[in-house]
Amino acid sequence: MTTRHSNYTSWGRILHAPHHASRPASTETAASSVTAPTEATMLGHGLGRSYGDVALNPGGRLIDCRSLDRFIAFDRATGVLTCEAGVTLADILAVICKPDPDGSGWMLPVTPGSRFVTVAGAIANDVHGKNHHLHGTFGRHVREFDLVRSDGARLVCSPTENAELFHATIGGLGLTGLILRATIQLRRVPGLAVEAEDIRFDTLGDFFRLAGESDATWEYTAAWIDCLAGGKSLGRGIFSRARPAPGIAAAPPPRAPRLSFPIKPPMPLTNTHTVRAFNALYWRKLGIATTHTRSVGPYEKVFYPLDAIGHWNRAYGPAGFYQFQNVVPLAHAEAAMREMLQVITASGQGSMLSVLKMFGDPLSPGLMSFPMPGATLALDFPNRGQPTLGLLSRLEAITVAAGGRLYPAKDGVMTAATFRQGYPEIDRFARSIDPRFASSFARRVDLRAASGI
Ligand SMILES: Cc1cc2nc3c(=O)[nH]c(=O)nc-3n(C[C@H](O)[C@H](O)[C@H](O)COP(=O)(O)OP(=O)(O)OC[C@H]3O[C@@H](n4cnc5c(N)ncnc54)[C@H](O)[C@@H]3O)c2cc1C
Repeated sequence: MTTRHSNYTSWGRILHAPHHASRPASTETAASSVTAPTEATMLGHGLGRSYGDVALNPGGRLIDCRSLDRFIAFDRATGVLTCEAGVTLADILAVICKPDPDGSGWMLPVTPGSRFVTVAGAIANDVHGKNHHLHGTFGRHVREFDLVRSDGARLVCSPTENAELFHATIGGLGLTGLILRATIQLRRVPGLAVEAEDIRFDTLGDFFRLAGESDATWEYTAAWIDCLAGGKSLGRGIFSRARPAPGIAAAPPPRAPRLSFPIKPPMPLTNTHTVRAFNALYWRKLGIATTHTRSVGPYEKVFYPLDAIGHWNRAYGPAGFYQFQNVVPLAHAEAAMREMLQVITASGQGSMLSVLKMFGDPLSPGLMSFPMPGATLALDFPNRGQPTLGLLSRLEAITVAAGGRLYPAKDGVMTAATFRQGYPEIDRFARSIDPRFASSFARRVDLRAASGI
């Protein structure tokens, strides 16, 4: 297998690093590249939509799985789909999730806020979506996958076969081997369009009330928070909820973004002024006269607002940006979210894309899966160097004090101690790490040390 010396970049554009990369065209060549006799460590790579360093292995090898893009089988009666690791969620929506004449159809059981992620990437981070409170993580809907290890073993992993590797690989950050193909269970929905509502709210307490009222009957819920509003307006935002609209068909969204951010600007287009202006405008997006809007239409705008423009991450300029996402258990959720919003407001470093959501009870099958019952807050901050790192460190400390944890797929800074405290199954997981797999993230949080490798 030939490798090229190529630069790969995290989605937050903070880490750019040369890698020896190969892009196997078949599962057979992918499997042989895992067993190739070289000293370098390796890591699978999907569409690189992870914001931090979980998908990078600077100085080592990357096995870029984008060409493993074949559908293998789909049973229209049961919704069971088998495909190669590099098939994207956008591909599944476009090819498989087409409406029947009555508007109903098969749908992804769980989707993150971007459809431009691969099936293997979705498994390795055990991604969640706006319906976590009802349907849990992506991994809950994975029936089995084929995993190749550096010792040459090619294993079918499921809850009953090689079960320990199954549970370690779901949310296993690509460190247990290379996923070659997977079988997932799609979900039958009565309509592929969605009924959606946006509700403006004034306080953090309102968010928790709206989430409590909505979670039983609305499949998709999340709120945008104006994280520059302080004082009496602290925690104000817009609560969005949606559910399948029975009998109404919707065409799938395109397999590639409609537009692409055309340039790499030499300076960030986001700064305190633009973030403040954006937040003030967004807060008023429902208009002055109403606080509640309702619509029925395609799910694309509700699920994937950021996918409309490809490479939107370039707007943050050459210094890039940090994402931060935590989850805090229910008992401390409101107090911790309030404290974090106060810290952010006081710092003046606002985030445009601040999303607050409740996770529910459905258990993740992954030993290292991020979600747990509680509230999750996702933020992005333009990288301004030390002040941004200082802010992230305060948010991390509040999360840890509240018994919460950070999401590796979004993280670029958490300490090894924070990681260890947040993920109690770390030592059990470490026993399943493949000794020849590594990532920048694994080195940063001492995961390989935990595995004794
Ligand atoms: C706009 C946007 C919105 C997002 N919203 C959400 C959200 O709502 N919820 C959420 O959970 N996440 C969200 N994410 C994060 C994203 O869903 C995850 O980072 C996802 O894992 C990215 O998949 P990818 O195919 O790009 O994989 P990459 O980022 O390339 O890799 C992710 C992980 O998968 C591993 N991997 C890749 N291929 C293989 C393979 N064949 N075998 C084994 N391991 C492999 C990599 O080593 C790495 O650890 C969002 C990202 C963006 C850009």
